[in-house]
Amino acid sequence: MAVWIDTDLCNGCKRCVKACPYGAVEIKEGKARILPHCTSCGTCMEVCKPQAIHTDMEPKIIPDFSDRKGVWVFAEQRGGSLNPVSFELLGKAQSLAADLGQEVSAVLLGHQVSELLPTLFDFGANHVYLTQHKALQDYRTLSYAKAMESLILTYKPNILLMGATHIGRDLAPRLSRRVGVGLTADCTELSIDPEEGILLQTRPAFGGNVMATIANRYSRPQMATVRPGVMEAVKKRSTLKKVIKHKVSLTEKEIGSKVLEQFKEEGTGVSLNDAKVIVAGGRGVGDEAGMKALFTLARAMGGEVAGTRIVVEAGWIPVERQVGQTGQTVRPEIYIACGISGAIQHRAGMLGSRYVIAINKDPGAPIFQVADWGIVGDLHQVVPELTRRFQEGKRK
Ligand SMILES: Cc1cc2nc3c(=O)[nH]c(=O)nc-3n(C[C@H](O)[C@H](O)[C@H](O)COP(=O)(O)OP(=O)(O)OC[C@H]3O[C@@H](n4cnc5c(N)ncnc54)[C@H](O)[C@@H]3O)c2cc1C
Repeated sequence: MAVWIDTDLCNGCKRCVKACPYGAVEIKEGKARILPHCTSCGTCMEVCKPQAIHTDMEPKIIPDFSDRKGVWVFAEQRGGSLNPVSFELLGKAQSLAADLGQEVSAVLLGHQVSELLPTLFDFGANHVYLTQHKALQDYRTLSYAKAMESLILTYKPNILLMGATHIGRDLAPRLSRRVGVGLTADCTELSIDPEEGILLQTRPAFGGNVMATIANRYSRPQMATVRPGVMEAVKKRSTLKKVIKHKVSLTEKEIGSKVLEQFKEEGTGVSLNDAKVIVAGGRGVGDEAGMKALFTLARAMGGEVAGTRIVVEAGWIPVERQVGQTGQTVRPEIYIACGISGAIQHRAGMLGSRYVIAINKDPGAPIFQVADWGIVGDLHQVVPELTRRFQEGKRK
């Protein structure tokens, strides 16, 4: 396959040079020239006004997806408890479905889990696809992948959202491979393209330095995972409440794995997701002792302590308290960023906070661009003063 330039038509406008994601077009003597590492992606052809770029590639035809309907959310449960990310995804699914004029469905797999149905309806599911089987009692990759595949092939959803949890990260890629569709992992934003009606899936790329928006024109369902805490749960009781029971045949032999024992790792008991106030520290805190002052402030405000990857790597706080692209996503009422520069990877985890207060001695620190209030100063003076004021306020 080749791409070539009709030099009579080319006006050397450089649009193709700017558009090529691979840097595979150059201008030589006023005309565009395709370089050997061109991948024939076709981007240059889309932007070429005089239509001077040609290819012998067959144009890719968008299949007819008019039978693909509904926004599905995988309702993840373990031991009969729904993971809160399912409610967050149902919240997002409601707005996506409204934009498409389609309905929201939850997909519930398990054994004797029908008592979870009312909760799913309370959080906006119009329908629940319910598959119950003894082999689905505990999560196992093959049994869940097979059941989900059967549901997708039978009911043909348009969009499928899953939590980027341990289960979701295991199941989603396996499932996308089985049904032959793409998957965008760890999305931070989802919306519907108003012109094409396709799902726009935004996620950090290139180490978090850019946000990439990915759209899938050629296969269905459009599959995305979203990390817990990124979307907002919206309680909205559905009026439809239809349960579609779907049977699958599963044998232990084909599943090939058994759950012998289950144990829970002792956590630190930190719940950043539930915290209304988070006092977060960065390198500017200085050391572990400096971090203690943040714990005192957090206690005075009834909040929790978090931090950047730098302070986690320094061992000043445990990894459960890391906020950001490779840490937790939080949305407290108040986020106090102390000695944090505001790198994009950190901001990715805290931008959903209602109010951001930044304390930094550098007035040019990027954190001030996303802060509602900023205090330019030494945190070693500001934090104890704030703590004193909050403690005094409590005593009054
Ligand atoms: C793939 C990838 C993933 C990443 N994931 C994450 C992630 O999940 N979370 C995360 O946080 N980072 C992440 N990072 C790291 C990120 O790029 C930054 O390096 C990090 O967030 C910076 O942390 P910081 O703000 O603590 O430190 P710095 O950038 O060094 O900033 C320290 C700030 O403290 C201020 N300061 C210093 N002393 C004082 C003082 N006495 N009083 C007030 N202010 C003071 C300084 O002015 C400065 O602005 C990731 C990086 C990569 C490449």
